This record gives sequence, C-alpha cells and structure tokens, in this order.
Amino acid sequence: MSNLSSRTRGDALPTSARHLRLGVDLGATRIKVVVVEIDASGEVALRFSAQYPTAADEGPSAVAERLARYALDAVAEVGRVVGAGVGIPGLYRASSGEIEFLPNMPGAWRGFRLREYLTTLWRVPVVLINDARAFTLAEARLGAGKGHQTVVGVTVGTGIGGGLVVDGRLLMGSDGRRGEVGHQIVEVDGPLCTCGGFGCVEALAGSLALMRATGLASLDEIYAAAERGEKEARAAVARAAKYLAAGIANVVTLLRPERVVIGGGAASASRLLIASLRDMVARRAALVDAETYEIVAAELGPVAGAIGAALWSAEIDSGMCMDDVNDIPVSNVTRFGTLKR
Ligand SMILES: [Zn+2]
Repeated sequence: MSNLSSRTRGDALPTSARHLRLGVDLGATRIKVVVVEIDASGEVALRFSAQYPTAADEGPSAVAERLARYALDAVAEVGRVVGAGVGIPGLYRASSGEIEFLPNMPGAWRGFRLREYLTTLWRVPVVLINDARAFTLAEARLGAGKGHQTVVGVTVGTGIGGGLVVDGRLLMGSDGRRGEVGHQIVEVDGPLCTCGGFGCVEALAGSLALMRATGLASLDEIYAAAERGEKEARAAVARAAKYLAAGIANVVTLLRPERVVIGGGAASASRLLIASLRDMVARRAALVDAETYEIVAAELGPVAGAIGAALWSAEIDSGMCMDDVNDIPVSNVTRFGTLKR
C-alpha cells in the first residue's frame, strides 16, 4: 500500500494557495470518503465523494484497514493531499489519537490507535474529530449556517450529536468534546443514557427511546409511520421532539446562535422535526427573541461529516482551531467560499 503524499498529479500552485484535503467519516453503517480542493480565497470544490459499507462487525482492525484503503483509492483518482481529517462516531484522546468510546460500533475499539495507524499508512498529518463536530463545521462554513458567526449543529440519529461554532470558531477543547448538545440533562431522574448519565436529550429523543416507545425497528420506519399519521408513532415523535426542543432551547439561551442546523437520520425526520421544533424552542427560550435565530435543515447531505473532517484538517494547519487561545484575531479566521460540486 503506497502512501498518499507519494501520489502526484501536476499541481502547479503551491499547497498554501490551492490544495487537496482528504476527509473521512467513519459511521456505524457507512464509511464516507471525500477529497476537497481548497483555494487561497477559501473556495472549496468537492473533487471526490464516495460511500462504502462499514461492516462494523468485522472489528476495528478490518474496518480501519478498509477505511485506509478506500482513502488511498480516492487519492489515486484525484491527486495528492496535504492532510486528512477523520470523523469518528464517538470519543477519542487527542493526545494519543486513540479511540476511547464508540457507543454504536461493535468490537474492542477502546485503545485502538487510529490516528497513528492512518498516519503511518498515509504519510500525511491526520486529525481526528467527532462526527457531529465535523458535521457542524461543514454546515457552518459551507452549508445551512454559512455566513453566520454562531451556529449550533445537531445530528439526530441513533444518538443525538452536537457541535458549536461560536464567533466563527469551532469549539473543541483539549479532547474535542465541547458541544455535546445531546447529553444535556432535560429530565432530572430520567432514564439511563449511553453516556452513563440520566435524563439526557439522547436518552429521551434518540432512536432507542423512539424504538422502545413504538416497537418499530428503525428511525426510518418510525418517521415514515408518523408521516402516514399513525397515532403511536406520531405521539412518540412529538414526545422526542419536546425533549430535543428543551435541549436546543438551553443552547439558544446560553449561546444566542444565529442558526441551529438539524441533520442526520431520515430526510422526512428533518422536515417533521424542524416544523415542530421552531415553535417549541421559541416557547422555551423565552429570553431570546425568536427573530434572531432560525432552526434549519442541513444542506450538505450525507457527506457533510467527511467534508467537515477535511475542513478541520485545514483549520488545524491554519492555526485557527486553538479555541483555548484567545489571541487569534477574528480577521485571521479562515473564510470558506461556496462549495462547488
Ligand atoms: Zn448522556
């Protein structure tokens, strides 16, 4: 297996002006791979985009090996990249690049040194990022939050993921764990959550809660049933939306974002959810003028997380990611233009 940086394809401009970045989103069911081209003015072009089955039950080594190979195939097709970002569905240790907790992936992932493994194979700098943070970054820079300084991202699926772009910067913290919108407590003494806490948004509005309430096997089925007007499914979705609205209202009150971007899960889920969330959040975030923010559907589709991982790799290199360091002037923050497909 050859490394990414050894592949060349006549790139006349220096990397600082125009360059390719790899983005990978490791999902429980699909691995998404993109290559984006970023030019000096921040225009981003999607040069490669593909999805592959994760086959998560094959275990960490097999999944990581295939993920690495899919990326190498992409680079073979498009050209050399200067860096890579990998979105993961859970938590990692930023210092060692090892996986700590992937709640929805089978196998012994804890302690798996994913960043080291990929850096060795690819021979380019690799950064890890939580998948919901990556989704939020992509939507804030290029999608439904574009042009706004403070954007909250919420992914509604098996879990409830979240990310925060505040005053133009993605909040990460030392281990990339800022912005866990889904693990705010919205019911004191509520049900046990995958995180070990009780009464989190995720425990009350995630797919497990909905499946328990309806007896249906997937989010797609539940939202389809709700759209058809089936009473039990509608009631379960309405109840989940209420808890989700409480979580979003908390964030709106704390951060006063201009946009809350909802993604993940079934397409029909977003439509149903967003319509009901607007009113419910407005009623609960009583201190915030509802005219100052909008709750909107994501725009970048299923590869948003992979695009966000690639952008994060670029932002790390530009130095704008150090949100604990407050001396970076906002004018130095990378500004991305439109996404060309
Ligand atoms: Zn939780």
